[in-house]
Amino acid sequence: MSEDSIFTRIMNGEIPSDKVYEDDDCICIKDIAPKAPVHLLLIPRKPIPRLVDATAEDQALLGKLMVKAGEIANEHGVGDAFRLIVNNGEQAGQTVFHLHLHILGGKLFSESQLGF
Ligand code: AMP
Repeated sequence: MSEDSIFTRIMNGEIPSDKVYEDDDCICIKDIAPKAPVHLLLIPRKPIPRLVDATAEDQALLGKLMVKAGEIANEHGVGDAFRLIVNNGEQAGQTVFHLHLHILGGKLFSESQLGF
């Protein structure tokens, strides 16, 4: 069996985190190395390694994460301007192989800037 991801360990309380939201399906924590004044990670409890590993069975969960991301962005005062980023695969910058949505806001993002 593969090892638990750092995010699963956070959910299990084995590693501390700055949690801003949680429910039965997901948690949201502050990123430990923020790239913007608001930098949150919305993480499903289900340990889907990458977005590409999600299946039709995960459709409702992924939809919920999108809606929840908007709500959380609103609650953190960045509902009018934020970026939602999912890095899929090492070459795309993914370092934790447990699906997560980066919610970034509170700074001006240039039009052409794809990364953060
Ligand atoms: P990614 O590179 O898309 O896989 O994003 C992983 C993110 O997790 C990075 O932005 C890290 O700063 C963040 N991260 C890693 N470890 C922790 C942790 N213990 N608590 C909060 N954020 C973390």
